[in-house]
Amino acid sequence: MAELNLILLGPPGAGKGTQGERLASDQSLAYIVTGDILRAAVREGSDLGLKAKGFMDAGELVPDELVIDLILERVRRDDAADGFVLDGFPRNIAQGEALDAALAELGRDLNGVLLIDVADEEIVRRLSGRRVSASGRIYHLEFSPPQVEGKDDVDGSPLIQRDDDQPDTIRKRLGVYHEQTEPLVEYYESRGLLRRFDGTASVEEVEGHIRKTVSTLRLEDSI
Ligand code: ADP
Ligand code: ADP
Repeated sequence: MAELNLILLGPPGAGKGTQGERLASDQSLAYIVTGDILRAAVREGSDLGLKAKGFMDAGELVPDELVIDLILERVRRDDAADGFVLDGFPRNIAQGEALDAALAELGRDLNGVLLIDVADEEIVRRLSGRRVSASGRIYHLEFSPPQVEGKDDVDGSPLIQRDDDQPDTIRKRLGVYHEQTEPLVEYYESRGLLRRFDGTASVEEVEGHIRKTVSTLRLEDSI
């Protein structure tokens, strides 16, 4: 089967992580989650983590020189040779251009950019109720509660609230999204790569819409 290289785009809290995990396992694609990679670096206390932490806590983007090489190295790994789902990267035009250059060098193409759209008011509700496991599994107090309150369904570890899921930081992150990330919508739309999804539908409905679109992309690619 031909490779499938996908980007998940959308504001914080749109459901990229929820859908990305399902999509990558469904389609057997490498799942590259920038936020998880950065949070792991912060937990380990690595040089990168120490540098990234302040930006993340403030809801700002970590500087490109720390992020771009880190993510492109993942894209080049063998496990992404059959395709990938990029979640949280690119987040500005410079990162989009760096990804294009890296893919061109590898003789590879992007197949689709999946934009999950959710209005700002709903985002605040989503992120205030988000809880995550240490391994990155995603829950919501109201919309996707765990089977046992406060515990991960798979390994029973305690669920936590991310430091940056506080009202002030959420608003800051939304501002950063509109200013720096949203220009990527036009960047990919003008190349015919963009596919839009209404992220306010249920998790299962969004998943179904994405699955249908991705099947079509696979078909188009094989013609
Ligand atoms: P969400 O899933 O809520 O959109 P992420 O987990 O993707 O949030 O990102 C959390 C934080 O990690 C961001 O606010 C930012 O500080 C940093 N980050 C994630 N991806 C990038 C990126 N591509 N470039 C710069 N910083 C990033
Ligand atoms: P992102 O990765 O874009 O930041 P997440 O996948 O982490 O978004 O989702 C943010 C929060 O919203 C989580 O608590 C998640 O359980 C919840 N969520 C995700 N998709 C939906 C949906 N379609 N309807 C209701 N809640 C959702």
